[in-house]
Amino acid sequence: MPVSVVSHPIAQHYLTVLRKRDTSSSSFRSASKKLAYLLVAEATSDLELAEIDIETPLEGMGARTLAKPTVAVAVLRAGLGLIDAAVDLVPDVKIGYAGVQRNEETAQPMEYYTKFPAMEGAKVLILEPMLATGGSLSWAVSKVKEHGATDITAVCVVAAPVGIEHMESHHPDVRIVAAAIDRDLDHNFYIRPGLGDMGDRLFGTV
Ligand code: URA
Repeated sequence: MPVSVVSHPIAQHYLTVLRKRDTSSSSFRSASKKLAYLLVAEATSDLELAEIDIETPLEGMGARTLAKPTVAVAVLRAGLGLIDAAVDLVPDVKIGYAGVQRNEETAQPMEYYTKFPAMEGAKVLILEPMLATGGSLSWAVSKVKEHGATDITAVCVVAAPVGIEHMESHHPDVRIVAAAIDRDLDHNFYIRPGLGDMGDRLFGTV
């Protein structure tokens, strides 16, 4: 399974802002949005282009335009921190939501809400910032596949090796884009060193 780590210096700078304990909620939101632009740019770097004829003010020319639609699915809650970048950057992107809660004792995903646009023939980005055990991402990928998705890229901020292995064995066709691959998971299934609970830090809950 291809995993692309976005090593762009600006991405790494904003990742450090997210990691720091003392970063305020508003700075955290702003940094996650800015980092998301670079992650979404990488995740869409394989989008197909079609040739079209256009007229500039001076002459006609052959030019390139996006050949197929893109859908971004935010895995709630933390995926909301990446969605503005997808909306800003990707022309006519359609948005889906996948509500899944982690059972804190078993770390198994529990669904509470899904709403998806049509996905046949679309590039589907799954916005799941923290790839920890891989349970939530794997659940979301299964859901979008049931809905017709075949070209899927996961957009993550931090990925743990165990989560990557989980995806390799359950969904080897899914590309993963992340800003970092961290060391491991602790006994509460938090990524170490990580950045804490992404949803809590985005929304100021504790
Ligand atoms: N979800 C988070 O928000 N943080 C982690 O470290 C793991 C899962």
